[in-house]
Amino acid sequence: MKLYFDLHTHSIMSTHAYSTIEENIKAALEKGLYAYGISDHSYMIKGGANEVYFRNFKAVPTEINGMKILTGAEINILDLDGEMDLTEKMEDALDFIIVSAHTPLLTPGTKEENTECYIKIMQNPRIKIIGHPDDSRVEVDYERLAKEAKRTETVLELNNSSLTPLGHRINARENISEMLKYAEKFGTRIVVNSDAHFSTDVGNFQYALEILKECNFPEELVVNSCPDGLKYVINESERTINMF
Ligand SMILES: [Zn+2]
Ligand SMILES: [Zn+2]
Repeated sequence: MKLYFDLHTHSIMSTHAYSTIEENIKAALEKGLYAYGISDHSYMIKGGANEVYFRNFKAVPTEINGMKILTGAEINILDLDGEMDLTEKMEDALDFIIVSAHTPLLTPGTKEENTECYIKIMQNPRIKIIGHPDDSRVEVDYERLAKEAKRTETVLELNNSSLTPLGHRINARENISEMLKYAEKFGTRIVVNSDAHFSTDVGNFQYALEILKECNFPEELVVNSCPDGLKYVINESERTINMF
């Protein structure tokens, strides 16, 4: 399976990643990606980028050497009521939004409470990607998650970094298999992302592709298996309005 875009990548603006956006773009071009997305951490996580950084994305070109450049954010869930570090002005400016749970910023609840929290977040039509819901520290009911994601047209992320030998998320492989099982059952779309914290990892989908193959997961549900799949994950922003 060929994958055409990588929307979950970090730059030095996340302060625990090590490449600039330009270095990431160069790596994405070398990999032949159709589109590259930057999604630095929002401001409530230690060292996250400030709000103005996200609001000024109009300064970033929409295309470089024929590759589309999309500017997004990885938003943090702050509590089990679904509070997030996402302002209205950011929502208007961002081409795409990934929302993720990061411990210890979020104190996880029970499986049911965590699932309810994700379900509440998915009601916002501009939130189209749930990032790495694959960590047993934030237990999830995958049947309910996949069912509600389908209903709200939210895309669940298959995060390549979670599956690497150095990945720190607990039981990621088992959780991802479970997520894929229910995504297939309900026809829920998924997106494969690298979650790169260094430029050489941009467009690296190695482990994600292996698990998709093992699970025999239908290609038509993987949004980045064709360029047109971007329509399921991007929003109308100042930048995207004239982009396609
Ligand atoms: Zn994350
Ligand atoms: Zn990330």
